[in-house]
Amino acid sequence: MTTETREFQAETRQLLQLMIHSLYSNKEIFLRELVSNASDACDKLRFLAIADPALLGGDELAVELVPDEAAGTLTIRDNGIGMTREEVIENLGTIARSGTRKFLESLSGDQKKDSQLIGQFGVGFYSSFIVADKVTVLTRRAGAGEAVRWESNGEGEFTLEPSFKQDRGTEVILHLREEERDFLQPWRLQAIVRKYSDHIGLPIRLRNEKGEAEALNQARAFWTRPKSELKDEDYQHFYEHLSHDHQPALAWAHNRVEGGSLEYTSLLYIPSHAPFDLWDREQGRGVQLYVKRVFIMDKAAELLPPWLRFVRGLVDTADLPLNVSRELLQGNRTVDKIRAALVKRALDMLEDLAEKRPEDYAKFWQAFGVVLKEGLVDDHANQERIARLCRFHSTLEASEQKVSLADYVARMPEGQDKIYYLSAESLAAARGSPHLEGFRKRGFEVLLLSDRIDEWVVAHLTQFQERKLESVARASKDIESKIETADKARHENEYAGTLKRLGEALQGRIEAARLSVRLTESPVCLVAGEQALSRRLEEILRKAGE
Ligand code: ADP
Ligand code: MG
Repeated sequence: MTTETREFQAETRQLLQLMIHSLYSNKEIFLRELVSNASDACDKLRFLAIADPALLGGDELAVELVPDEAAGTLTIRDNGIGMTREEVIENLGTIARSGTRKFLESLSGDQKKDSQLIGQFGVGFYSSFIVADKVTVLTRRAGAGEAVRWESNGEGEFTLEPSFKQDRGTEVILHLREEERDFLQPWRLQAIVRKYSDHIGLPIRLRNEKGEAEALNQARAFWTRPKSELKDEDYQHFYEHLSHDHQPALAWAHNRVEGGSLEYTSLLYIPSHAPFDLWDREQGRGVQLYVKRVFIMDKAAELLPPWLRFVRGLVDTADLPLNVSRELLQGNRTVDKIRAALVKRALDMLEDLAEKRPEDYAKFWQAFGVVLKEGLVDDHANQERIARLCRFHSTLEASEQKVSLADYVARMPEGQDKIYYLSAESLAAARGSPHLEGFRKRGFEVLLLSDRIDEWVVAHLTQFQERKLESVARASKDIESKIETADKARHENEYAGTLKRLGEALQGRIEAARLSVRLTESPVCLVAGEQALSRRLEEILRKAGE
């Protein structure tokens, strides 16, 4: 047999060193990573077996941990998909190239869109070297005859040779460092599996020297377990596993729907901070889709509208065929119904958060408010509920976006019947605007809008609780009558000449120059005509046209 020696890529060598030194205090995570790889390998096989049942045979998919005191080795083995020689080289010889990602890419035609990753960096395997000074991988790809043996001491090189393996799947054999033999203790392995891998939906067993197997986990997909059995920390653990986000989720909703026309389980999470690609409406939105516990795809965009793209989670349904593709999801009636139901769940969850934990809601709003506001424009049916969830700056609360429309309406003074807002390029510009002077004087609160989307928001959200929204920067008769006082008439004559001269000087550039007491300090301001586009929208459109 020929043994081939290859060098790791330079980054891999660096990564290995970093891994060993920086994760040293948290070394038990190696088991989480290897069990997660074994479980992914089983999921992949299960998925391929939908099209080719012979691949699976009648086997029960499982992961086994086999400690061997005498040899000082811990083996993690699975009967999942296994790897070919090329796959071994690609997956275990390079970094930042996740096999899982490749797998997902091959699922749909649109490679770029699907290139979202499951494992964020694809480096979990190398954590083996935190506890082992040599790692041997023996693997046989499902459907292939020959096996491959990969071995490395994690320094600069690895070896590859053809080998024999009775069954398909992968064995990772860790030759534990002398001081890490603790990881051979059954109680230790049990505790780590409980801590990190309990949610994994297939059996994880410990096989002892007498060949007896002991179950270490519940072996039920996390979301199929009853809510009453699950604690907050269980949900947080699962969130981390699902999203690769190491900060805890703000809230979640776990629901099972049975009977009626739909049958599905959903588990939705609200993250506590924005991901880097939040602004890209096309980028990685949607939740994971499972059909009867079988993982089908990540980021199924059809299951959530763009304005809920910050929601993470999954849907497991019995109402779609196992061979469902992205194309089939589009315009599918079942999918449409599930999406409508998920939107309601997400809104319920946010309402609950806003009501019961306002401080956490403020965090949510800070991170995702601008995205949620897109819903006011996109989803007319849910507009009222979304509007209730929105928070704004106002003349009374200008340090944070804290004012809800309901609060605003509740404290409207006598004589005010509209919701006034001012839209500007920035909060500072809004705060300093001369348009506010008269409103301040009258004690009318004005919402200060400066997010880019706000112009579209006020174009679509024309009223709330039957109160019209009105811009204070508009030459509205109603505003004039509310703000202006009897003094105006007295001044009218006095200024007639000035107004006339102004009108002539600015002819063609303004519609008219009028006397107004909406100003208390500034001499003059520009307002939009009653029927005209708002100044800011004009500005945005002008820029877009350039
Ligand atoms: P990630 O799991 O994020 O992709 P890892 O470093 O944990 O990154 O694993 C790298 C790749 O090696 C995996 O994507 C997978 O293709 C392959 N791999 C690792 N372990 C196994 C296994 N037990 N069975 C099959 N393939 C595996
Ligand atoms: Mg992994």
